[in-house]
Amino acid sequence: MQPIFYDNVYVQPLLKSSTNNNIFLDILRLDKLHNVVSGNKWFKLQLQIKDCKQAKKNTIATFGGAYSNHIVATAYACKLEGLNSIGIIRGHESKQLNHTLQQAQGLGMQLQFVSRTDYGNKELLKQNLQQDNWYWVNEGGYATLGAEGVTDMYKWIDDSYTHIACATGTGTMMAGLIKGAATHQHIIGITALKGHDSLQQEITHLLTTKEAEKPFTILADYHFGGYAKHPKALLDWMNHLYTTYQLPTDIVYTSKMLYGVFNLIESSYFAEGSKIMAIHSGGLQGNLSVPKGSLVFD
Ligand SMILES: *Cc1c(COP(=O)(O)O)cnc(C)c1O
Repeated sequence: MQPIFYDNVYVQPLLKSSTNNNIFLDILRLDKLHNVVSGNKWFKLQLQIKDCKQAKKNTIATFGGAYSNHIVATAYACKLEGLNSIGIIRGHESKQLNHTLQQAQGLGMQLQFVSRTDYGNKELLKQNLQQDNWYWVNEGGYATLGAEGVTDMYKWIDDSYTHIACATGTGTMMAGLIKGAATHQHIIGITALKGHDSLQQEITHLLTTKEAEKPFTILADYHFGGYAKHPKALLDWMNHLYTTYQLPTDIVYTSKMLYGVFNLIESSYFAEGSKIMAIHSGGLQGNLSVPKGSLVFD
């Protein structure tokens, strides 16, 4: 197994010309972190794994959908750290496990399938399934410790950046970016989900009162129809990013986030001289669900 090193992560400049109202845009290539645990998932897990070990528990139990990057990342990280892993999966088991679940199982994760109704009540599920040596990690790694682990991303983001832009699912990464930001840095979250009205509250819940006073904005206009939709306009945009910047993006999160950032730049959202860091949070394995031949990269 390949350990998880920060060495492969780097900052890629995207816009540095005076043609864009003197706006600088860089992207933090966390997709380069690791071939299985890529992107933000390791950042959210690391302190929870530590906490599990400190509590002398030997098993991490977590939740996810059948295509969850979080499930695979948890399976890998647990194997690497010598912990058992349990994945509670939403929906009934199909005869043939999909690629994500096969991979998780291959890494030693024990999968338990629960109906969508039961999945909806996670507190009850936890009560019913709980064993003494289990440590629970929420779906998507949502937790204060998850967000604290994300502050590590500031290893690559110095004070000269005025804005940091990220994609949001559970909002844990965004909460961590807010936690670690200097007071003048504005965090912009672009949602991949349609109609996720509770996001603001869920993010604030992971922050102290003081942290919640820092500037942050959630933008919900760039979801392209919802979570796993892949309209042609989005595929065209991904191909454009790849041919122009040699930048691969994923269909669920990072392509929409960058579409939003470029759109904001064009509509003069950012003041002249702004310096933006976009976070490439990984997720490229999700492109397996895109019809073959529609992307110029893989
Ligand atoms: C999981 C994931 C996210 C969502 O992160 P949250 O912390 O849940 O908001 C964003 N981008 C990618 C690529 C992901 O895989």
